[in-house]
Amino acid sequence: MKKETLPQKQNRAKNIFTRLKRIYPQAGMILRFSNPWELLVAVILSAQCTDKKVNEVTEKLFKKYRMLDDYIRASASERAEKEFEDMIHSTGFYRAKAKHILTTARIVKENFGGKVPKTMEEMLTLRGVARKTANVVLGNAYDVVEGIAVDTHVSRLSQRLDLSAAHDPKKIERDLMELLPKKNWFRSTYLLIEHGRKICTAKDPRCDLCPLQKLCPSAFQFPRFQKNNDPHRRNDKRPKSH
Ligand code: SF4
Repeated sequence: MKKETLPQKQNRAKNIFTRLKRIYPQAGMILRFSNPWELLVAVILSAQCTDKKVNEVTEKLFKKYRMLDDYIRASASERAEKEFEDMIHSTGFYRAKAKHILTTARIVKENFGGKVPKTMEEMLTLRGVARKTANVVLGNAYDVVEGIAVDTHVSRLSQRLDLSAAHDPKKIERDLMELLPKKNWFRSTYLLIEHGRKICTAKDPRCDLCPLQKLCPSAFQFPRFQKNNDPHRRNDKRPKSH
């Protein structure tokens, strides 16, 4: 197959995003928060955990820990720290997450006057904050868009759709930024996540139901379709939405 030129790929990316926007008009942030600090806490907790579980945990957490100073007090003694860990236990990796959140609370207080910073450079000085978290917080809390948040769904779909051949999230982000106009960067994360949850799942992508079939070089390249050469006849079960 002839290699796509950059303008051709940009055009295909534009068509993919136009379709996704039409299919998922409501795609967006699911985590609940009422200020930038709560959003940062929720995003740190969401690593290796579902947004639904994080929302269950933060519903109680944000009632008990209302201000930044409440988090700072939680690192003042072993007992207070343990109490905090217990509250976030069910999100998994709770010790590391507690350490990141409580250390970050101190950094925000001491270095940024108690306010979550508004630039990528500053965000990356916080504990447990890499570009994905920073992009999510900056975009949702401040409408500041410096890049594209790349999570596991965005990585997988970027590869399957041949928008990036990379595996490193930083490189995938750079490839997507080259293909999409800046005005689409923020939205692209949520559109790809939604499609990754509903149709292009990790284990069983439903190319037979996918509106991107004609734009996707990986369409029907998966075991479900190789057993039966006529993919359109395999329409047994609709995928679950998460
Ligand atoms: S055609 Fe298949 S691999 Fe491509 S985006 Fe759709 S579900 Fe994913």
